[in-house]
Amino acid sequence: MVDIRPDEITAIIRKQLSGYESEAVIYEVGTVLQVGDGIARVYGLSKVMASELVEFPNEVFGLVLNLEEDSVGCVLFGDCSLVKEGDIVKRTGKVASMPVGEALLGRVINPLGFPLDGKGIIETKHFLPIERKALGVLDRSPVKEPLQTGITAVDAMIPIGRGQRELIIGDRQTGKTAVAIDAIINQKSTHTEESKKLGINPVYCVYVAVGQKSSTVAQVVAKLHEHGAMDYTTVITASASDPAPLQFIAPYSGATVGEYFRDSGRHSLVIYDDLTKQAAAYRELSLLLRRPPGREAYPGDVFYLHSRLLERSSKLSDRLGGGSLTALPIIETQQGDVSAYIPTNVISITDGQIYLEPNLFNAGVRPAINVGISVSRVGGSAQIKALRKVAGSLKLDLAQYRELEAFAKFGSDLDSSTLNTLSRGARLVELLKQNQYVPIPIEKQVVSVFLGTSGLMDQVPVVDIKRYEKEFHEYAEMRYKDIYSAIRESKELKDDTINTIKKAAAELSSTFKKSE
Ligand code: ATP
Ligand code: MG
Repeated sequence: MVDIRPDEITAIIRKQLSGYESEAVIYEVGTVLQVGDGIARVYGLSKVMASELVEFPNEVFGLVLNLEEDSVGCVLFGDCSLVKEGDIVKRTGKVASMPVGEALLGRVINPLGFPLDGKGIIETKHFLPIERKALGVLDRSPVKEPLQTGITAVDAMIPIGRGQRELIIGDRQTGKTAVAIDAIINQKSTHTEESKKLGINPVYCVYVAVGQKSSTVAQVVAKLHEHGAMDYTTVITASASDPAPLQFIAPYSGATVGEYFRDSGRHSLVIYDDLTKQAAAYRELSLLLRRPPGREAYPGDVFYLHSRLLERSSKLSDRLGGGSLTALPIIETQQGDVSAYIPTNVISITDGQIYLEPNLFNAGVRPAINVGISVSRVGGSAQIKALRKVAGSLKLDLAQYRELEAFAKFGSDLDSSTLNTLSRGARLVELLKQNQYVPIPIEKQVVSVFLGTSGLMDQVPVVDIKRYEKEFHEYAEMRYKDIYSAIRESKELKDDTINTIKKAAAELSSTFKKSE
């Protein structure tokens, strides 16, 4: 007989127990108490984790959201009509996760990673949980690289940095999606050979469509294809006809896809279009789960819904590879009411907002940005020097113009300095108008803004501003190409470049045909 020491016996028992325990965890089961409206209440499952996946019969999965004393509440994915009272529910031990990686680029998927574009399954080895904890302070570093949108008004006055969260807010049909899509299209310039030489890192994009019509999303995807932007973009969609749980998790899935790039030392841009609809989906779920309704019938933790999402955008420290995730959440307001519950929440979470106004939009000022109340709280340090230099007075000039504009309607007895402000302002407003899908390279933006703020356009009639700008660029690109390459390479606007611009402007003015 072999002697067994007592401590060995304990070790063996402990080992058996641990094996037993883990088996028990896997097979831990519950029974359905109540089911309906895509929600199930389940008895048992006492060790289940929040946001763990549980399995119902007939290939239906549930996501655990409510952990109550003697039951758990889950939202169902799949054909909910197949789930009946008394059905057995099994734990899976896994939280909901999402395929990530390069294989997702160019694809249109649902928030669980299921392809919607008919291009077959997504081949990837990487999976990451949909809900992840945001990084702490020590893992981050300050935002210092620009994320250029290609929209002059934004890049010059409301600059966005990589790792920042900038809210796009406005009533319906004010061009919110347009700003976001242009930002995606502009990232094409970061994927070129030339950018590589200049040390500009490529930005991978994710467009998350929540609660929109499928046809609208299809149009967006078509536009992205048309402009060659799908090569570096993933579209995640939970449309208005999809169940509320999918609409609720879609933004988190988008963040997860973006985080894969961020965590591998690269850069990503994630658009959440829009979070108002996500909040509505979450309210629907919460009411069905019988959580107590609070202000505007949203549950008490609706702030946390958006804060935990947006905190995931970040610029990583060099130790972690220096990658970034920039977020452009979109919020729809009713009648310009930014003080409603969800808008104030998201305004307070983000690092600034681009405010779009129906009045401006209808007056033909597109993008319809209200410069007075749009801000970017961290982007300034990420703006290239040249643009910061020329755009310094732009915001002020425009704000003054808007203030005096109302006066100007009343009478003609205005002093000359007021008249100057008005005439400069009108030209700047005109200059900043920009069509959709035509992102402007940063060096061209610098030159255009310089023409406006330095007064070189003051003699050009307002109606001719856009034509003058176009002709100037054509002329300068033909005669004085160096202007652009100098700005692009040095990121600065040096005195000799300024002189060349002035020279070109003087030459052009003599041949420019005014339409008045
Ligand atoms: P919704 O509230 O329906 O989501 P939205 O605020 O996202 O609307 P968009 O769909 O982006 O607005 O734009 C509304 C309309 O305005 C579209 O037809 C779009 O083509 C047009 N539009 C947007 N921006 C511009 C622009 N800069 N120049 C010209 N047209 C524009
Ligand atoms: Mg939209």
